[in-house]
Amino acid sequence: MDKKIIIAIDGHSSSGKSTMAKDLARELGYVYIDTGAMYRAVTLYALRHGFIKDGKIDEPALEAALPDIHITFQFNAETGRPDTYLNGEKVEREIRGMEVADWVSPIAALGFVRRALVGMQQEMGKEKGIVMDGRDIGTVVFPQAELKLFVTASPEVRAQRRLDELQAKGETASYDEVLENVKKRDYIDSTRAESPLRKADDAIVLDNSHMTIEEQKAWLRHQVQLIMNNE
Ligand code: C5P
Repeated sequence: MDKKIIIAIDGHSSSGKSTMAKDLARELGYVYIDTGAMYRAVTLYALRHGFIKDGKIDEPALEAALPDIHITFQFNAETGRPDTYLNGEKVEREIRGMEVADWVSPIAALGFVRRALVGMQQEMGKEKGIVMDGRDIGTVVFPQAELKLFVTASPEVRAQRRLDELQAKGETASYDEVLENVKKRDYIDSTRAESPLRKADDAIVLDNSHMTIEEQKAWLRHQVQLIMNNE
């Protein structure tokens, strides 16, 4: 497999696309970029700087602060996955909490935030050899990606997966609260004016509601093989 390609993985929140994308990148020796983590890091920055108050986002203040927000990833040998850094501080844990989850979709709906992050993402994929997951990777960031996947599962299955993840990290949340958040994010992500979540016309759909991680991996390897054979 000499020729490097771009693999775009889009889909609903908690559909398991990040796990798939991370493992695939590791297998191929590709760079993995979790674009959701980038929107989450911007949200954490906004929360910490008081740009979200009384249920409202101070858009001018956030826009003015964008040049001061630096997001990087560093591979963590212990977990075998990249950690997200915000201005040099590891924030992997902070960006996965419920407060960030509640605000990330409204932040990600802001045009100026999307333009800034899409620019960074395109830069990261310049050399190809990248697996990027998000909502608009196959449609906006890399419409020319050689392989595009659209991953989904029922909201109930996704809420249960998210709850298991939160509980494993020692966070408390109820199933109903998490299901509500999953549905709310689906709604905001799919109906926003700026780059709404939608399947690219040439993306392959994977509904993994009833698949194990191993089954998904085998399916994914097969898709990659098909593309590589054609390249
Ligand atoms: O993937 P994850 O669930 O961590 O993403 C968090 C949120 O970031 C999504 O619900 C969506 O609102 C936003 N997002 C986005 N575009 C991307 C990636 C994430 O709008 N490419």
